[in-house]
Parts: sequence; C-alpha cells; structure tokens
Amino acid sequence: METSLGSSTQTAGQEQTASQEPRREHRFICIGCPMGCELLVVTEVSEEGGPPSAVSGNACKIGERYGREEATNPTRVMTSSVRVLGGDMKMLSVKTARPIPKGKIWDCAEAMRGLSVNAPVKIGDIIIKNAASTGVDIIATRNIARGSA
Ligand code: SF4
Repeated sequence: METSLGSSTQTAGQEQTASQEPRREHRFICIGCPMGCELLVVTEVSEEGGPPSAVSGNACKIGERYGREEATNPTRVMTSSVRVLGGDMKMLSVKTARPIPKGKIWDCAEAMRGLSVNAPVKIGDIIIKNAASTGVDIIATRNIARGSA
C-alpha cells in the first residue's frame, strides 16, 4: 500500500548539484505480514535507466522485495464481476490469475466491459485468456450452476 500519492523528490542531502542524479523517495506499508513495517525506498533515476533502489525499514527480505517491486514495477491482483446468462446467479466474480502491472488494470477492465458468460461456470475457468496482453488470464472465482436467477 502506498501511503502517499506519487513520490516526493528529495535532494541528496542539503546540497544537490547538477552532477548528482535525481533521487526519489517512496514510502510504503509492507503488506507481507501484520507487522506492517514502514518502508522507505530510494530510487536513483539515471539516463542508463534501470533505477537501482535501496530499501530500509523492513524487518525481513519479504519487505525488501515488496518495496523494490512497489517502487519500480507495482502489481495488483484485479477483481471484478461479469454477467452470467442462464445461471442460478446473475453475476460471476472474477480475478486475474496473478498480479498484473498497475498500469494494465484499466485495459483489463475495458476488456471485461459488457462481457457475459454462459452457465455453468466452475472456479478457475478462464474467462479471458491473456487479458490485455498481460500474459495473465482472468478466471472465475466461484461456481455457478445452470438455472434462472
Ligand atoms: S518487512 Fe517482513 S516483518 Fe515487516 S511487514 Fe513486511 S513481511 Fe512483515
């Protein structure tokens, strides 16, 4: 969870010079366990790309990995629902089978817009293959039998 919108730009100490590379600070709460460590991730953006990052505030390696990923390539499991035709329920809950880049969430939502599926549906059934070219499928998260809801 990001605790602030975007990232603040920080000077390197009090005396940033033109030769110093831009530094950015990101603050997150680690979601790896209930301790909720407050992470500080510092990235340095260079012309060569590939921002290296330093993570502090973490009590274990899980937090370090989470902090790096949140700062450089944040991902989320997306959940939603689609209409069901001929089922004992009208709506089917779905989710991405794995986390997807945050920047692709809108594209996946668009791919599901107006979509309906025919009953029956089983948990794990693929609703959309390779959603929005993410390489990740959108799958059903519940069973729905034939019927008339
Ligand atoms: S850094 Fe480790 S101990 Fe701290 S919240 Fe994350 S998983 Fe838990």
